[in-house]
Parts: sequence; structure tokens; C-alpha cells
Amino acid sequence: MLRLMMSLILLCSFGGSPVLAQTAFRPPLPLDKSSIGKTQARPKVNIPLIVHKGLVVIDPGHGGSDVGTQSVSEPRYLEKSLNLVTAQFVRSYLQQLGYEVFMTRQSDVFISLEKRAELANEKKPALFVSIHYNSAPSAQAHGVEVFFYHSSDNKHRMIKSKKLAQVVLKHILAETEAKSRGVKQANYAVIRLTKMPAILVEGGFVTNDAELQKLKNPDYLKKIAWGISQGINEYLSPQG
Ligand SMILES: [Zn+2]
Repeated sequence: MLRLMMSLILLCSFGGSPVLAQTAFRPPLPLDKSSIGKTQARPKVNIPLIVHKGLVVIDPGHGGSDVGTQSVSEPRYLEKSLNLVTAQFVRSYLQQLGYEVFMTRQSDVFISLEKRAELANEKKPALFVSIHYNSAPSAQAHGVEVFFYHSSDNKHRMIKSKKLAQVVLKHILAETEAKSRGVKQANYAVIRLTKMPAILVEGGFVTNDAELQKLKNPDYLKKIAWGISQGINEYLSPQG
């Protein structure tokens, strides 16, 4: 119950943030959808109402009965909540930058790893980013690491995923000044089963006291989210 309350407090405490006011940064719609068809013929070409740079799938790790990792000290900070809050910030920032965003979960629900990959593959996004936080038996372990799936079957996707991982890590480090644990290969299901460039971000260790103090602060999560968003934007920009 305490865990649930803390995750609720953690989520609620960000609810009033202007960053989460997702419509605030969107450009005004040039057309009122409801008026289409009433006074004019339906256009033959499906013209998007908002010009967007591309679709990105954000995957907040864990959820529901799967809490992920958690802090050792009380009150316990749950990874699933940190993941969702960070993902919500990323979504807002990416929308500001002109991207369409699909999230594999938007609330505290359990979704299997296979389902997450399936959802992403159905959407055919430009890329996939799974957001997680870390733990280790050693309280000393801290820092940020980004994973991609190493596959000799699809070298093209692997090379793109590695490049995305490098760019995203670079921007997270620039924003947070956290320790770099580097870009690494891993066999996580969501980055193995997805068909587009895909990475898994481990934003910090809840088992390290100093890093946990930072992760408790929504401003720090925003830095991580802004770093992820900037990395995505650089990777997807034509000159990037
Ligand atoms: Zn995790």
C-alpha cells in the first residue's frame, strides 16, 4: 500500500507541471475536423492536419503487478513509476519538436514484452525507445547506459540502433552530467523483437543513494527526458 501511495504521490506531484500540459505546445489546428464534410466535400487526399516529422514509439518499462526494480531505502521508489513519468515528459518534448508519439502504456498497467514489441511493429514507427531505471547488488553502481540488440540477421537495423543509442546517450549525459556506463549490447525482448531501430535506456540506479536523490526530483527526470528527446531529434533530423 505504501508503495502504491508513493507511486501515486510521485505521479500526482508532476500532474500540474506545465511540461505535461500536452496541448500547450501544439500549433493551432488549421482546420476544425468537425466542420469537414458539413460545408464542403471530403478531400480526396488525406492531408495531415499537423505536419509531423515522424512517428516514435516510447515504451515505459514494467507496469501494474510488474513494478520493475525499486529503491532499497524507504520510501520505496518504484521503477515502473519513474519510467512512466519520464516517458510522459519525453512524449511532451517530442510533440513540441513536431513528432507523433505512441506510448505502449499510458497508465499503471501490465503489458507483456511480446505485446509491446507487437504494438510497435504494427505502428511501424521511425524508432522505438524503451525507458527503464536500474539496480545493482553494489550500492556503488551508478550512471546511465543505453542498450541495443546485436543481431547478425539484420545488420542494417543493428547499426542504426547502435547509432541511435550513441546519440541518445550523448544528449542524456550533456543534460544530466551523469556518469556514462556506455552503449552496450543486450538481448532484451523489446529491442530484439521490434523491427525498427530500437534502444533501451537505463537512466540511473535507484540502488545508489546519490543517484536516487536526483531521480526523486522531477526536474532531473525532465533532464533525462530532454536528453532522450534531443537524441531522437538529432538521429531523425536529415543532417543528423
Ligand atoms: Zn526495467
